[in-house]
Amino acid sequence: MNASVDPDLCIACGLCVSTCPEVFDWDDDGKASAKMEEVPAESEVSAEEAADGCPTDAITLE
Ligand code: SF4
Repeated sequence: MNASVDPDLCIACGLCVSTCPEVFDWDDDGKASAKMEEVPAESEVSAEEAADGCPTDAITLE
């Protein structure tokens, strides 16, 4: 599973960073971003929770 964040959609609410800090962190522009492309297997459930909870659907998991 790969994770990515569309910075044009991210409103920096912080949900993904708090829900799945293993994968999501803040970038230099104050938007969330995926720290790695490949989501570790043990973080897939929380990454999906983050994607489902993102208010602007900025997170793509594929
Ligand atoms: S949950 Fe969505 S809008 Fe909120 S910080 Fe993460 S990517 Fe941005």
